[in-house]
Amino acid sequence: MPKNPFSESLVFAVDLGGTHLRVALVDDNGRIFEQSKQKTPKDDSPEGIIAALVDAAQKWDSYKEAVVATSIMVPGAVDADKAVVLQAPNLPSLVNFALKAELEQRLGWPVFLENDANAAAVGEMWLGAARGCRDVVSVTLGTGVGGGVILDGKLWRGSHGSAGEIGHTTVDPFSGLKCKCGNTGCLELFASATGIVRMTREGLSQFPDSRLKSEGLTAECVYEAGCDGDELALAVFKRVGMYLGIGLANLINLLDPQVIVIAGGVVNGWDLFAEEMFRQLGERAFRTIAQQVKIMRAECGDNAGLLGAARLARGSL
Ligand SMILES: [Zn+2]
Repeated sequence: MPKNPFSESLVFAVDLGGTHLRVALVDDNGRIFEQSKQKTPKDDSPEGIIAALVDAAQKWDSYKEAVVATSIMVPGAVDADKAVVLQAPNLPSLVNFALKAELEQRLGWPVFLENDANAAAVGEMWLGAARGCRDVVSVTLGTGVGGGVILDGKLWRGSHGSAGEIGHTTVDPFSGLKCKCGNTGCLELFASATGIVRMTREGLSQFPDSRLKSEGLTAECVYEAGCDGDELALAVFKRVGMYLGIGLANLINLLDPQVIVIAGGVVNGWDLFAEEMFRQLGERAFRTIAQQVKIMRAECGDNAGLLGAARLARGSL
């Protein structure tokens, strides 16, 4: 393998998702030098995950001298100072496990740990839609809804490592819909891919002419139907926009950010939900502030978190 031609140092960045484990070597400029992806090992103990990380690092042994840190992001609450996972429903074996000590001993590099949505916010601030901004909120609309908050250039983790959970702020207390967090009426129930599928199923009987059917329904097919003018799909995306607009108006009035970056697969439906989202913002957020806050689509795609993790290992944020 060639010697790393880009820079002096690389970060071994890890996206440890509930389904997939992605690793990459990221240089000083945020260039992804090598990357690979596999299924996340599902064991009762953390050993499978640790072994997968050690194997992945060993594959890139020829770059070993250039690597300065391991930086991991997980879907859960973390204690970033101690690099301990505090809560992660999809990675139960890692909760309270001494990840830092184990990986530092096995790999030899300092270990950093961050929540995935926080890492994505940092990635977008470093190299994406929020470049040059210091007050940034990122909202990721995927299977669930995640959020990351950066204030005055610093990642705001909260007193207990779980700040930025915009997906679990209440946008409809009377919906009667229970969220997996225990609350009812969370934004995640309406603005996630899962929510799009549920709302579509609920609407099938009211829209008998819709081409959408209950079987095999995905957010993508609802989006495609919406692009072709399917009225049920359009009504569902309008609801996405309405609840998202309510959530974002609350965020704007609370934090007055420079930019809100919207990421995740659901953002592909922007043309179908943005009009209603902006209408809600216009009605609910402080007008003079809302006119100045930029609402942007994310630019780093799936790599935002890996890039953010790499950035976080290069200096505190
Ligand atoms: Zn919730």
